[in-house]
Amino acid sequence: MAASLLVVEDEPAMREMVAGNLREAGYEVREAEDVASAWRTLRASRVDLVLLDWMLPGASGYEFLRRLRREGDPAEREVPVILVTARADEPDRVRGLDAGADDYVVKPFSPRELRARVRALLRRAADARADRVEAGGLVIDRESCRVQVRGVEVGLGPTEFRLLHFLASHPDRVWSRAQLLDNAWGHDVFIEERTVDVQVRRVRKALAPHGADGYIQTVRGFGYRFSVAD
Ligand code: CA
Repeated sequence: MAASLLVVEDEPAMREMVAGNLREAGYEVREAEDVASAWRTLRASRVDLVLLDWMLPGASGYEFLRRLRREGDPAEREVPVILVTARADEPDRVRGLDAGADDYVVKPFSPRELRARVRALLRRAADARADRVEAGGLVIDRESCRVQVRGVEVGLGPTEFRLLHFLASHPDRVWSRAQLLDNAWGHDVFIEERTVDVQVRRVRKALAPHGADGYIQTVRGFGYRFSVAD
């Protein structure tokens, strides 16, 4: 079954170009010109990935994304989002990722780059559903609750395991401490945010002998991200 994409873009020429290109690549593509129409489509049909323009009339793509991640139902919170932006500077990219984007492309982009990013993100989402994450020599298997680095077993406690699995399932995305508590601990827990720092330290310590402690990176003023790139 072809993956189903939703393209949210207000400029008709741009929307048709992107949608047409992705249809040619074999995807099923739905289109929305604003945030209201994007919500309707999300509620009415299966969407596997959203391409979201940042600048939209009325509510921005950024506001839509924040609402989706905070107030969406479980499937909506998880749907992969690529933010399309004309803002290439670092603070805005970090802001977009912090709001819950999985990736971003900066206008103007080539159709080839866009297809590659869509493909990569869909693959990552499929891996996360398969409960097995592999990155940089690290294998995290949720079914057996085991973590290995290049074949060597790493011992982690249950919370440490959930934290690492969650971060590694969404590589290169920045998460605040509150978001990590929500996602790795559960929605109704009332734990101090510094607990996250404690658990992150433990996971790093467990990964350190295997040279993998650098995968969990501190993003000052925001929180943490998992990345196998430097
Ligand atoms: Ca726009």
